[in-house]
Amino acid sequence: MNADTKWVYAFGGGNSEGEAGMRELLGGKGANLAEMAKLGLPVPPGFTITTGVCTAFYENDRQYPGELNGQVEAALAQLEAAVDKKFGDPANPLLVSVRSGARASMPGMMDTVLNLGLNDETAEGLAQLSGDRRFAYDSYRRFIQMYSDVVMGVDHGIFEDILESFKEENDYSLDTELTAEDWETIVREYKQAAASELGRDFPSDPREQLWGAIGAVFGSWMTDRAKTYRKLHDIPASWGTAVNVQAMVFGNMGETSATGVAFTRDPSTGDTGYYGEFLINAQGEDVVAGIRTPQCLTEAMREKMGDPSPSMEQALPESYAELAAVFDKLERHYRDMQDIEFTVERGRLWMLQTRNGKRTAKAALKIAVDMASEGLISETDAVMRVDPAQLDQLLHPTLDPEATRDVLTAGLPASPGAACGAVVFDSDEAEARAKDGEKVILVRIETSPEDIHGMHAAEGIVTARGGMTSHAAVVARGMGRPCVSGAGQIKIDYASKQFTVGRRTITDGEIITIDGASGQVLFGEAKMIKPELTGDFAKLMSWADASRRMKVRTNAETPADCQTAVEFGAEGIGLCRTEHMFFDADRIAAVREMILSDGQDGRVTALDKILPMQRDDFKAIFRIMETRPATIRLLDPPLHEFLPHTEEDVADVAAATGLPADLLMQRARDLAESNPMLGHRGCRLGITYPEIYEMQARAIFEAQVAVEKETGVKPVAEVMIPLVATSAELAILKARVAGVAQAVAEETGGQPQYLIGTMIELPRAALRAGDIAHDAEFFSFGTNDLTQTTFGLSRDDAGKFLGDYLEAGIFEKDPFVSLDKDGVGDLVRIAAERGRATREGLKLGICGEHGGDPSSIDFCEETGLDYVSCSPYRVPIARLAAAQARLRRQS
Ligand code: ADP
Ligand code: MG
Ligand code: MG
Repeated sequence: MNADTKWVYAFGGGNSEGEAGMRELLGGKGANLAEMAKLGLPVPPGFTITTGVCTAFYENDRQYPGELNGQVEAALAQLEAAVDKKFGDPANPLLVSVRSGARASMPGMMDTVLNLGLNDETAEGLAQLSGDRRFAYDSYRRFIQMYSDVVMGVDHGIFEDILESFKEENDYSLDTELTAEDWETIVREYKQAAASELGRDFPSDPREQLWGAIGAVFGSWMTDRAKTYRKLHDIPASWGTAVNVQAMVFGNMGETSATGVAFTRDPSTGDTGYYGEFLINAQGEDVVAGIRTPQCLTEAMREKMGDPSPSMEQALPESYAELAAVFDKLERHYRDMQDIEFTVERGRLWMLQTRNGKRTAKAALKIAVDMASEGLISETDAVMRVDPAQLDQLLHPTLDPEATRDVLTAGLPASPGAACGAVVFDSDEAEARAKDGEKVILVRIETSPEDIHGMHAAEGIVTARGGMTSHAAVVARGMGRPCVSGAGQIKIDYASKQFTVGRRTITDGEIITIDGASGQVLFGEAKMIKPELTGDFAKLMSWADASRRMKVRTNAETPADCQTAVEFGAEGIGLCRTEHMFFDADRIAAVREMILSDGQDGRVTALDKILPMQRDDFKAIFRIMETRPATIRLLDPPLHEFLPHTEEDVADVAAATGLPADLLMQRARDLAESNPMLGHRGCRLGITYPEIYEMQARAIFEAQVAVEKETGVKPVAEVMIPLVATSAELAILKARVAGVAQAVAEETGGQPQYLIGTMIELPRAALRAGDIAHDAEFFSFGTNDLTQTTFGLSRDDAGKFLGDYLEAGIFEKDPFVSLDKDGVGDLVRIAAERGRATREGLKLGICGEHGGDPSSIDFCEETGLDYVSCSPYRVPIARLAAAQARLRRQS
């Protein structure tokens, strides 16, 4: 930074030094004011003090750069010349607004101060000059209140009280009834009140007012509120805010003056047609402040809302027509829907702000598709315009925003969508009651793999404990079930089948509604909106598909999930976990029998019972997937997850196997491990108990042959061996699986189409990918476990301290939600490179939770993976994110 650094940029008055592209330096508001002025639109002139000043201010012990004062004085002089008024001159006073403006619009920043430059003398001058005393003193009282509140920290309530009692004493009900003399009285009382609060006179020197307001804007950058907002939205403190000083225009100069806010299209539906509100004879934030009810901008909107007050189109037709032309010009220029603020002073239109408007997911889709059809943007622009994460809003039933909410408590918004049903505390009961047609919400302290069937049967899930990556949260997201996790205020009593929250008690069978988007748990049935995949949605998806390189598959194991995923556009299954199939009530006994049998014979007998069931599972899946490839993972979890827990369960197994109960108990104890996640699981089971994998392989191949015979369509299987660390493990197991395929072919005369590959989920496997690829025909990155094993961090336990890590900035994001591109990502890159060096064109995919996370999907594109796989409900999100990742690298 040197002595000739430019700290101040003028705009309007025929000399705009900034433009839209300079938002880093000028903030969003300042850059767009300059741009509008450049476009020849009517913008009151002014100047922007750059974000650089804010940064320098904080780097320099809250001192302004030495040249700032001079540059501000020069800009002020230029402004005075442009509007032919003088700051502080009672004969012809210039008034200004002081407005904060960061790069991204940011709540927490200082509110705007209007009418700055007024004091007893200039107010009198303004009254003379405008010929409207009432207007002058209305402006003055607004200024005293705003400045005291915003800059000097005086509670605005004291001003409101003064005005209220004045109105009461004089039998007024509306502000508009106050006369010029009334406002003069109010001004005197306001100044007295401010002085007694401040312990000094209200500042009357305009320059002191100006520097006070500028200092307050920069000061607001470091308030707790601003800091919190920045933290939540990943905005670095180094960005700083700019300050805009702008000549005032007045919407409060009588019946031909007005102020308003508008969108160039409807921000909640995306419908074409301007959308907005205005108020006659009003200033600044009156429209949003709710003091008076604003009127509709257009006739169309007025008719739709049945509003009796005239629209702007009717009341101020000329200004309206001018405004409409500006809307069109701005939309064409920015090629996006604009959010606009304007004022009309005695019939003359002034533009005070424009920015790309925030919008709902539905509106985002419609606007992108419409603008592409209108030729305003290209189809690929449209694809880039929609935030993939926002699509989530459209893929689940959601709570009607108008619905009345009887909020019991709130937990974490663990899985989106809304659901309503009767409270149930037990998974078996949830399943039974759902079978009888009842809609239920499963409420648990926490969930475990044994609750899968209950979670599936339930409309939604609530847990009292657990974070965003708890079992309940992950599984619910996978299933597309709304879930509120970690609702810590809920005290569940399983025995009496009820939970309490505060002083309220909710009993089994009572109806609750959960909102997975906000984390709220509501009493009773709240109104919901069904997901609606409109034509726009389909159209945007087809454009995304045309730009996309990576395929999108799904993680699914039930026919229902497979069906949903295919409807959402899944091009295959990236991960079919076979163990979930083992938990079904009618099979768990056979599974336990298999695990607890001592010798191979016992296991084979039990496996023979499981084979036909598993074959049927695969048949159902292959029928739905048709020729889309299905990656099926052989048994992975530690066996202890299937063990019987209660004496009753043990007795069942004893009856089925004829083995004594105490022997079974002993065997269960033998199987217990101190660190099961690193224990006897994955391919290690396949090495010890080859008959388990052989049964599963047989079920797959026989199902393929059967479905082909039945439908004439040839299913494609990708058999995946989990938790491989060495090439030898894979070589042994591959030979066995291939042997089964051969046997099935011989027995049936069919020819199952399959590949054999592995999941890369251990650092050693990633490093030795070159060896492993000799046998592996594909790699699928199991990034959930790869993250656990790379960090040495258990996902199930991380929830307890992850918050501290995020707080301390050690993790920028939860590495189980967003892939750690540096560490875990390095292993993925290494494995991809080494694997493909051995086997050209080795098929690569990702099947962890990260496969549905847009920023992780971007990483997958960069690394050259062939596909991502995610839960059925995230398939459209992944399709869009994959397209965007591709497009980002093409431009
Ligand atoms: P926000 O970022 O909260 O919208 P703004 O700085 O845009 O704050 O100011 C809020 C409102 O104040 C504007 O919409 C406009 O109505 C009014 N305003 C700001 N500057 C001026 C000005 N120079 N002349 C007239 N009104 C102004
Ligand atoms: Mg505003
Ligand atoms: Mg604004």
